[in-house]
Amino acid sequence: MRFCSLGSGSAGNATLIEAGAVGGARRLLVDCGFSLRELESRLARVGLAGDHLHAVFVTHEHGDHIGCAITLASRYGVPLWMSRGTWRAIGAPELPGLIRFARDDQPIDLGALEITPFTVAHDAEEPLQLRCTDGAQCLGLLTDVGSSSPHLIEHLQGLDALLLECNHDVAMLAASRYPASLKARIGGRFGHLSNDTAAQILEACSHAGLRHVVAAHLSERNNTPDLARAALAPVWGERSERIVVADQRHGFAWIDLAQA
Ligand SMILES: [Zn+2]
Ligand SMILES: [Zn+2]
Repeated sequence: MRFCSLGSGSAGNATLIEAGAVGGARRLLVDCGFSLRELESRLARVGLAGDHLHAVFVTHEHGDHIGCAITLASRYGVPLWMSRGTWRAIGAPELPGLIRFARDDQPIDLGALEITPFTVAHDAEEPLQLRCTDGAQCLGLLTDVGSSSPHLIEHLQGLDALLLECNHDVAMLAASRYPASLKARIGGRFGHLSNDTAAQILEACSHAGLRHVVAAHLSERNNTPDLARAALAPVWGERSERIVVADQRHGFAWIDLAQA
């Protein structure tokens, strides 16, 4: 199994996961937070097109995640997974035969890839984040969450790779020119993860087998790659120089979970 990002941050998110043998690989796109044209051009950067996708999963209805999901799914006839709450929040669109409903803790079989959504604390209708496995390796995706929970930590045990939101540095957010209400929203229990909370989550799911950590969904105003890395470093020790930081324009290149 391998994964890459086509872009990560408050201006748009899209993560690709590929599992299975070459030739019979299954590809899942998690979130579509760009225009269709932009997403197609970002897919082309990794040598793919819309008709190479086998499923799309949207974590929640915020624009930086839902983006072009409806047009993408209908143009390429790709099944589109989301929670009922997300579907209602975007106006319950009709998309005959393509909308599939996901629920907390209910595994979804996508062929060579199985995904298990889990509920997180975020200010959307019914947000879900994901644990993914190809039967050999496990990947956890966690963005757009305001606070940790036992439920979330439980779903992130035994991972080989973790994509972890490091949205903001607490001091940078406090000093920013954002209005007080926005600061309270971002830093609140249903907002986004600070570097410090992300480090606590990493600590709670850290084990010898966790070989790949990606810091994602960084705020371009209230965080820097160095601050995010520095926050995670004490938890991940000498491996921390290998922490990948996803960015808005380029995301990050393929990470193969089978490789050390
Ligand atoms: Zn987001
Ligand atoms: Zn969100």
